[in-house]
Amino acid sequence: MVEKVIPIRLDEGKGLTPSIGAQLVTPHGHTKDTRGRTLRDLRISVTDRCNFRCTYCMPKEVFDQNYPYLAHKELLSFEEITRLTSIFSTLGVEKIRLTGGEPLLRKNLEVLIEMLAKISALDGKPLDLTLTTNGSILRKKAAALKAAGLQRLTVSLDGLDDAIFKKMNDVDFPVADVLDGIAAAQEVGFQNIKVNMVVKKGTNDHEIVAMAKHFKGSGVILRFIEFMDVGSSNGWNMEQVLPSKEVIARIQEVFPLEAIEANYAGEVAQRWRYVDESGEIGVISSVTQTFCHECSRARISTDGQMYLCLFANEGFDFKTLLRSGKSDLEIANAVMNTWAAREDHYSEIRGSNTAKLTSGNRKVEMSYIGG
Ligand code: SAM
Repeated sequence: MVEKVIPIRLDEGKGLTPSIGAQLVTPHGHTKDTRGRTLRDLRISVTDRCNFRCTYCMPKEVFDQNYPYLAHKELLSFEEITRLTSIFSTLGVEKIRLTGGEPLLRKNLEVLIEMLAKISALDGKPLDLTLTTNGSILRKKAAALKAAGLQRLTVSLDGLDDAIFKKMNDVDFPVADVLDGIAAAQEVGFQNIKVNMVVKKGTNDHEIVAMAKHFKGSGVILRFIEFMDVGSSNGWNMEQVLPSKEVIARIQEVFPLEAIEANYAGEVAQRWRYVDESGEIGVISSVTQTFCHECSRARISTDGQMYLCLFANEGFDFKTLLRSGKSDLEIANAVMNTWAAREDHYSEIRGSNTAKLTSGNRKVEMSYIGG
């Protein structure tokens, strides 16, 4: 049983105070953390709200109508998100992923995308701007997202069987509408769309081959994610994890596959392609083959806390810095110092059952800092 009240924020928005340091240095892209990792990716959660109640992410019994979602004034504004993104880009960040909650629920998101699309990386190229969505309102939004400058899209979909999908999203949302959203995105010109399927053993693992068959040859890259012990509300235990190795074995039996090289160092998915050249798939083995050693990601929560790890239980309060008249240089130094002190490697040392966590060491929920 999960407890009824699990605060989305562990500390009511009062995160740790980032250290600006006494001597300001010019921003650069070489800051390494204590494990030699460099900051390259930023995930920004634009809302803590979602219209799905996926049982493994925002279970209904916790996220009900009494749930204390953030008030609008607590959210970073588009201007604040843009400013922070510009600062991160001076520190070597090249890739921005907007997430949530359900990011398409944030009003006028395309306006934010237009603002972010104007920012360049250190090498002068535009930032790689992408978004993760449940696809539920993608049909309505796809054209505006594309026109605003969004480059790539990842859609989450946990199965093709309507009954199973509805059971997992827990709001009776039909598969057909998500598939239609993906079609709409393809129609307006999004290429190499990714579809992420979280595999929960005993719940949707028998959908693996059907999903592979459906997207094979469609231009969509299907990726299977091991069910993770994110947050403290999903009652995770190791028995619900189907190792990626097994996902690949099940698909191999039907459609021969061969491993292919990563696109870039630090890519979280291991890539495979169909031998008949009809496309590729990926597996993200966050539990059985951890990739903490090459993690280049930081996360900004909906209310401007910087998290260094998906499994963190503390964030750094950048919203207060943004709202207290600090200069870009001071904020950049605070980011560099925060990253330089990073030492987490949670996935390498996780226990086998997070449901035992007590309120003292709860991890932050994924819907608050994004996937
Ligand atoms: N609402 C958007 C969506 O559905 O993609 C973005 C936010 S959602 C938190 C991002 C991704 O995290 C989704 O693909 C979701 O399936 C995944 N996710 C959530 N909880 C997870 C868990 N416990 N293990 C693995 N993936 C999880």
